[in-house]
Amino acid sequence: MILVFRYRVKSLSGLLNQWCRAVNFVWNYCNDRQKDALRFERPWIKGRDLHREGDAFRFAGHTFRVFNSRPLPEGKIKDGTCFSQDSRGNWFLNIVIEVAESPVRPIDHGVGIDLGLKDLAVLSDANRISAPGFYRKAEAALAAAQRAHKRRRIKAIHAYTARRRLDSLHNASLQIARSFDHIVVGNINAAGLAQTSLAKSVLDAGWSSFRKMLAYKAVKHGARYVEVDERFTTQTCSNCGALPDSRPRGIAGLGIREWACSDCGAVHDRDLNAAKNILRRGRATLAAGIPAL
Ligand SMILES: [Zn+2]
Repeated sequence: MILVFRYRVKSLSGLLNQWCRAVNFVWNYCNDRQKDALRFERPWIKGRDLHREGDAFRFAGHTFRVFNSRPLPEGKIKDGTCFSQDSRGNWFLNIVIEVAESPVRPIDHGVGIDLGLKDLAVLSDANRISAPGFYRKAEAALAAAQRAHKRRRIKAIHAYTARRRLDSLHNASLQIARSFDHIVVGNINAAGLAQTSLAKSVLDAGWSSFRKMLAYKAVKHGARYVEVDERFTTQTCSNCGALPDSRPRGIAGLGIREWACSDCGAVHDRDLNAAKNILRRGRATLAAGIPAL
């Protein structure tokens, strides 16, 4: 499988800035090298000629040291590896690498995941992952920076919270991929749930990055990942499978956190019930895909 590892460049950012000055260095560099390759029969540039040198990377005759935030696995560095710069001027090295896939684990433990507004995710085993919001401390600091018109500080706070948010999604998805062999997620989108287009895009972004992380971490850890239609998962009783009269319905039903099934009497937490139904749907796809089951 192909993974992308992103490292902040520790050294030579001055050099990168210098290279970058004429529009986009990497683009130009590769164009030139490939023209050279055609003209002078030099070897065609592959994986952008980047290779490891201990903890550092060697590229275009220079050694770039990076903050080794996570170890780069063994594998072939692929084309598409490139440098990028964030809004604060920090340089990053994005390494596209092909690594061996883990063998698929036998399916013992499955989990259904209901993505939502109140919590980012509710798991069918009753665990909850709270939505990574804007941190209070950061909020106060941001307000102060905005009053003082400190633009660099504002950028720094935004970058910090974005990183914290991603970190928490990475941690949560990693734990799930390690704990469960079969991961089933509802295909929720924010249309109709969020009132403003901004809220919609923020929610969609959070849900889709979380789903992407779950999908590739599942493959990486030998688990299976599947997305199922989440329609009626909130309204169906996970205990008896009925669509009872007492189910939460429509706009008015959005605020109902707990309800009792009028058919079998089971009392449900709204999101946990949905997560259990999502898991059941996932199991059904599994059974359909494997005739022996
Ligand atoms: Zn019921």
